[in-house]
Amino acid sequence: MEMGRWAARMVALVALCAAVGFVAANLRHAVAPKGAATKPTAARTPHRSSSPKPHSASPSHSASPSPAPTQTPFAGTIAPIDDPLRATMIASGSWKPGDPLKIEALRLLTVSFWGFDARAHTGQIVVNADAADAALQVFRALYAARYPIEHMRLVDAYGADENAIMRANDTCGYNGRWVYSAPGVWSEHAYGHAIDINPLQNPYVWDHHVAPPEGKRYLDRSLQVLGMIHSDDAAVKAFRAVGWVWGGYWSKSKDYMHFSPTGK
Ligand SMILES: [Zn+2]
Repeated sequence: MEMGRWAARMVALVALCAAVGFVAANLRHAVAPKGAATKPTAARTPHRSSSPKPHSASPSHSASPSPAPTQTPFAGTIAPIDDPLRATMIASGSWKPGDPLKIEALRLLTVSFWGFDARAHTGQIVVNADAADAALQVFRALYAARYPIEHMRLVDAYGADENAIMRANDTCGYNGRWVYSAPGVWSEHAYGHAIDINPLQNPYVWDHHVAPPEGKRYLDRSLQVLGMIHSDDAAVKAFRAVGWVWGGYWSKSKDYMHFSPTGK
């Protein structure tokens, strides 16, 4: 009996040890997966949040179909003209010695915009440093309104040739050039105080001239055409909010593409 009771106690003790060991092992298992799950999650989180950034900063991001367009946040920067861009501007002739402004007075804006393809893109435009904040505010407002802009490349991509720029429907700012219809008179663009939006759908009309000529089909301003600026639309309002005037409101001529703080 004595031995039997002792043996029974030993069996109970072994069983208890086994039970404790089992519980401990299970506790370890219960903790281990948590720890294991936490690490990949933590590693994934910054990856997820950082992945839209290169998309929104990259001009080529429109090739990616995955991010919902409405979730691409506006991005905009203002930077001085660096040496490579200075060389590009001199080579294209968008800036020349003797122009009204020094290159140091100009700023490069890199901004998000909505394309005619209803996707977010990144464009670049040069304006006067004293107009850079206003221009950035305008492009932020245009982006919020999903205002369609076909292209926003630097004028240097077109050899600073106004005809080529308009024909390509490029939205642009600074260009050291004369008034299109008045050779010898500096344009507001030469002061970095003018921005042209979608020149093709918004031509410059004076006397019996239309520039670009391809813009003649958009002389009926009641048309509802992608990129066409209308009275009091989101573009006119965005520029008005920073004190800029639309050339569509001019009395003698109509420069439907043109916005400037001077009304010229
Ligand atoms: Zn203009």
